[in-house]
Amino acid sequence: MIVRKGIGVSAGVGIARGVILDAEEYDIPQRHVPVDRAKAELDRLDNAIATSRQEIVDLRDRTAEQLGKETASIFDFHLGMLDDESLHEKFSDTVLSGHVTAEYAVATVLRAYAREFDGMPQYLAERVKDVYDIEKRLLRNLIGQSRQSLTHLTKDVVVLAHDVTPSQTAGMDREHVRGLAVDAGGKTSHTAIVARTLGIPAVVGLNDVTSEATAGDTIIVDGYRGMVVIDPDEDTCREYEQYAEQQVAFSHSLEQLRDLPAATRDGHEMTLLGNIEFPDEVQAVLDKGGQGIGLYRTEFLYLGSDSEPSEEDHYKAYRKVLDACAGRPVVIRTLDLGADKYTQSRARVPERNPFLGLRSIRFCLQNLPMFRTQLRAILRAASGYEVSLLFPLISNMLELRQAKTIVRDISEDLEEEGIDHKPDMPIGMMVETPSAALQCNDFAREVDFFSIGTNDLVQYTLAVDRGNERVASLFTVAHPAVLRLIQETIRAGQRHGVSVSLCGEMAGDPTYTLLLIGLGLRVFSCAPPTIPEVKKIIRSTTLQHAREVARRVMGFDSDKETVNYLRAELRNILPEAYPE
Ligand code: PEP
Ligand code: MG
Repeated sequence: MIVRKGIGVSAGVGIARGVILDAEEYDIPQRHVPVDRAKAELDRLDNAIATSRQEIVDLRDRTAEQLGKETASIFDFHLGMLDDESLHEKFSDTVLSGHVTAEYAVATVLRAYAREFDGMPQYLAERVKDVYDIEKRLLRNLIGQSRQSLTHLTKDVVVLAHDVTPSQTAGMDREHVRGLAVDAGGKTSHTAIVARTLGIPAVVGLNDVTSEATAGDTIIVDGYRGMVVIDPDEDTCREYEQYAEQQVAFSHSLEQLRDLPAATRDGHEMTLLGNIEFPDEVQAVLDKGGQGIGLYRTEFLYLGSDSEPSEEDHYKAYRKVLDACAGRPVVIRTLDLGADKYTQSRARVPERNPFLGLRSIRFCLQNLPMFRTQLRAILRAASGYEVSLLFPLISNMLELRQAKTIVRDISEDLEEEGIDHKPDMPIGMMVETPSAALQCNDFAREVDFFSIGTNDLVQYTLAVDRGNERVASLFTVAHPAVLRLIQETIRAGQRHGVSVSLCGEMAGDPTYTLLLIGLGLRVFSCAPPTIPEVKKIIRSTTLQHAREVARRVMGFDSDKETVNYLRAELRNILPEAYPE
């Protein structure tokens, strides 16, 4: 049994057989092979080794021709391994003594082999990549066409991956993927956000869980506490099951709040909205008591398909959301493509620094036909509904004005064409760069509302990549610099009569609910599963108390002090939900 601590990003406990998703999505089940089938498995193994060997020889010869012998010598290690008799023996012994398939033997033996390089000097540690390369090649030659996709599964699994993209996560079979354990990533990476929205328990930032586990192992993913257990014993499984039951009981106890107002004990009402990525998530928001959609991340329309959506595709998706919301308010954010979403994998030359590159509104302003297609669809779909338009990643005034001008132009075009649309849509901007937050008084004169995106605001204020597990401990909304930017933005909104919502993951984190109320926030937009808990806290406090909490916090000079204090406050007001 191996226990690993990572970052819990999506609540819940999942226990199932592990599948390892590498770059090529191989799933190696631990299937039992009867004794009389063992010989056939060994033949398959020999064939795969021979085919892999031939492929590498061809590759080496081609490389030598094109790039010279020296470069081609990198394949000598691969050939050496494939010719290594002792490795062949280990493969065969595993098949024979473990009664397992050839692919399972290859994965087990090579993963153990790769682990031996851990802690060795850098030049040897680099060999790990070569070992995985060989594993991948052998598996491809063994599994061939029977590669299992995670979209349609027949059995429950926990997915272990070095890294997964938001679209891979979005495509996972929601019924059978019971958990996700990922080496890379941070709390607000888009993969984490998607897992949370889909309700798949997830732990990220585990560093090397994929090399410690073997496909077929039983895996526990505890998304509440950020733990992953590989090959647990029975007692441990039982403990986790009990813990999960307690948590589920707490969630059920919150269900009774669904139709009650999100008001403090002294009667100050908050608005609780939900964040969605796909139209069919609206129901989850409403089921949890959300009063509308505060952030619709429309870029996921691109991430789910290989071709660019047409105006009609956009229109249909927006109408679906609006109809499902049945008159409740909806904030549609324009495409936030770029960085970790969509553009890099398709770019001829990927950007060196994509989070500081051509993403979001910048990408849209440089791809006007695409931007105009989306805006036409939004304006058309919005006719007769309560819809607002939100621009992401505004970092200077010109961008905002350009985007607004394009909306005006499109509205005029639609008017001339006699096409039904909403001409006077409220326009807002994300405050998710320090420049936007610092210039919020100027921006407040130009927009109808602000939506604070703390995920990016933290990343850009603290210079910490939101998806990098190596700096995950530095990523915190509790940093005094971030809190001051949030406070200033809320104050600017109050000063100018511009409404302010907060749609970063902070909005759904119970630790910060009191503080945000105290800072003057009145609109929270959260991942659907987090809505009831935030409501519970709102209903358990008073505005006066929350203001006092905020006053104290704004006097602290470190994030640790803030977090400790806020957790203690939470325990004070709801001791049964947050025990010591
Ligand atoms: C944010 O940055 O806080 C935000 C809500 O936007 P996203 O997570 O989609 O970048
Ligand atoms: Mg953002």
